[in-house]
Amino acid sequence: MAADLQGKHALVVGASSGIGSAIALQLAHSGASVVVAARRKEEAEAVVAEICASGGSASYLPVDVGNTAAVQSLIEAAVAAYGPLHIAVNNAGIEGTPFVPTADYDETVFDAVIDTNLKGVWRCMKYEIPQMVEGGVIINMSSIAGLGANEMMGCAYTASKHAIIGMTKTAAREYADKGIRVNAICPGVITTDIAKRSFLQDKSVARKVLKMHPLGRFGTAQEVADAVLWLGSDQSAFMTGHALVLDGGASC
Ligand code: NDP
Repeated sequence: MAADLQGKHALVVGASSGIGSAIALQLAHSGASVVVAARRKEEAEAVVAEICASGGSASYLPVDVGNTAAVQSLIEAAVAAYGPLHIAVNNAGIEGTPFVPTADYDETVFDAVIDTNLKGVWRCMKYEIPQMVEGGVIINMSSIAGLGANEMMGCAYTASKHAIIGMTKTAAREYADKGIRVNAICPGVITTDIAKRSFLQDKSVARKVLKMHPLGRFGTAQEVADAVLWLGSDQSAFMTGHALVLDGGASC
C-alpha cells in the first residue's frame, strides 16, 4: 500500500522484535521519522540500523512501559528529537503464563501482565496525547484475545487485551475534537517470539491453534504492519474508536 508519511513523526513502543519491528520498518519505509522504543538496546538498534541502511530516518530510545517516569522521558526525548508526535503505536506486550487456569494463575504474573499490557498502554497514551498538538493517530495493540476467550492465553492476557479496546474507545471519543484518532488492532496468531513461546513449540498445540484460523495459516508481522500503516495514514481518516481484526477468520 502506498501511503506518504513524509514529515510525520512516529513512535513505536515495543519495537525491538516481532510485530513492533515490522511496524517501525514499514512506517519508516513510508517516509516517517521513527522512534524505536523498547528495553532491549541491541535488538532495537538493529532495527534502527536496518531503517537507516535503506535510507530511512530512525533512532532508538529506551523505555520500560512499566515505569511511568521512563515513559514520560521517552516521549519528551522523542519530541525533542523529531518535533510534535503524529503517529504512536503502543505495541509492548507480554504473554504471562498461557494454559494456566484462572484459579491457578499466579498473582505476581497477573500484576505484571496487567501492568505491561494495559497500564503500559495507558501510560503511553497519557504522555503521547498532549504531544499530538497537530492532531495524530494512536494505534493500540490488542489481540483476538481482546474479543473473546479460549483456554490458551490465560485470564490476565485476555483481560488486558479486552481492556485495551475499552480504553481505546474511551480515548477516541475524548480526543476526536482535537483531531486525534485512536484505534486498536486485533491480530490472530502471528509467528513471533510470543506465539512461539506460547504455543508453536509444541507441534500438537500448534496444529490445534492453526485449525482455529479458517484461512489455514498464521499471520505475519508484515501483514500487521501493513494494517498499521493504513490506520496511521490519512487513508483511514474517518476511522476512530475501532478495533481492527486481522486474524485469518479466527474470530468469525
Ligand atoms: P515480541 O515478544 O516479539 O514483542 C514484544 C515487544 O514488546 C518487544 O519489542 C518487547 O521489547 C516489548 N516489551 C515487552 N515488555 C516491555 C516493557 N515492559 N517495556 C517496553 N517494551 C516492552 O512479540 P510480538 O511481536 O508477538 O508482540 C507484540 C504485541 O502484539 C504484543 O502486545 C502482543 O500481545 C501482541 N499480539 C501478538 C500476537 C501474536 O500472535 N504474536 C497476536 C495478537 C497480539 P523489549 O523486550 O526489548 O522491551
